[in-house]
Amino acid sequence: MKILVIGSGGREHALVWKLAQSPHATKMWCAPGNAGIAQERLAANGATVACVAIGAEDLAGQLAFALKEQIDLTVVGPDNPLALGIVDLFQKNGLRIWGVNAKAAQFESSKVFSQKFMTKYGIPTAAAGTFDDVAAAKRFAASLGGRCVVKADGLALGKGVLMCTTLAEAEAAVDEIMVGKAFGAAGARTVIQEYLEGVEVSLHALCDGQVAKIFPTSQDHKRALDGDLGLNTGGMGTYSPTPFLTDAQLAGVADGVLAPFMRGCQAEGIDYRGLLYPGIMLTAAGPKVLEFNARFGDPETQVYLTRLQNDLVELLTASAEGTLGAHTLRWSDTVSVCVVVASGGYPGNYAKGKVIHGLAEAAALPNVKVFHAGTALKDGHIVTNGGRVLGVTAWGKDLPAARAAAYAAVDRITFEGAQHRRDIAAKAL
Ligand code: AMP
Repeated sequence: MKILVIGSGGREHALVWKLAQSPHATKMWCAPGNAGIAQERLAANGATVACVAIGAEDLAGQLAFALKEQIDLTVVGPDNPLALGIVDLFQKNGLRIWGVNAKAAQFESSKVFSQKFMTKYGIPTAAAGTFDDVAAAKRFAASLGGRCVVKADGLALGKGVLMCTTLAEAEAAVDEIMVGKAFGAAGARTVIQEYLEGVEVSLHALCDGQVAKIFPTSQDHKRALDGDLGLNTGGMGTYSPTPFLTDAQLAGVADGVLAPFMRGCQAEGIDYRGLLYPGIMLTAAGPKVLEFNARFGDPETQVYLTRLQNDLVELLTASAEGTLGAHTLRWSDTVSVCVVVASGGYPGNYAKGKVIHGLAEAAALPNVKVFHAGTALKDGHIVTNGGRVLGVTAWGKDLPAARAAAYAAVDRITFEGAQHRRDIAAKAL
């Protein structure tokens, strides 16, 4: 099969790496890809994966390429092309593509849409309201005593979520989003949720329009600094599984969230084929959904795919074709840990083009895979090319072994300004 992966981050490197292990993959491209993806080889024939300079949001360019190369399966990593309707466009042109269509992508691209859906179909979530009126939004925030989370409706690069503990903060947040338009059109409407306390976990489920197959648990580390301090980032590290949810509890969450989710999709005429990634808060009153994402998490993908034992080409094909019911997901009983190495200054401004040293030494360690995110090849050197640069991933028989392997690899890698957290998965020890 000829396979095209769309995107350029650590998630896409993990997808390429896992897809390339399938005997079905005989030729692969990634658009636009990164320096690590360009080093991957196919298990079937040893061919390298070719990176093509087409942006993930250049839908016309991606389509033209897929038609020209007669791609058998296109796999979409990031949310933006999904929200822009890349799946609908490819399908209209007779191409098989994996990912959610534009209607299903609304679960991520509109928090108002998701919140209303959760209320309508009885999915456990925070007490919440949706608003397009500033005064009504402020009245609702006041009814929560100001302890609330104010969210811009649309995609805002993960930044449109403001946590408030006083009414003054909540009113300022409403003004910032709805009046000051700090996140542009994404803030024309808002969701305001009660401020939930608890442990946050990431869930993933692969869906085919009929069934949803839940993954094991994982946990992300969103803040930039150790001890969950500093600014919110795209994610500084993950591990799987987490001890905060037993298998029985996970099955309960799957029933309580995924069953009404799939029922609601069918009732609303939403053909949900792709990945569903709910962010969940485990509160004293039970698990509650904070938000839905409609694609693989980054860096959750890195830990999941180093544990997945199935052939990913077969699974994603079944998800796209509605035949997932015939598959059982199989996971290794090892633990995986991913530590993100980022550019100095991230998530604020950072420099690019710093030469990365020690990649070969890290890769030579046992049970380690260094996934690239923001990297590029320049004058024969692999250099930094983004905020999150690498997702150093390792696995072991238990969490201490996996953490030790991951940090041993991280410690081999240097570049000017490199930063990472030292406490990934420490909460679980
Ligand atoms: P979201 O993009 O909606 O997942 O929000 C980003 C982050 O904000 C989440 O990962 C949580 O850490 C936090 N958050 C969102 N909603 C709430 C809530 N209702 N209560 C507490 N924390 C929240």
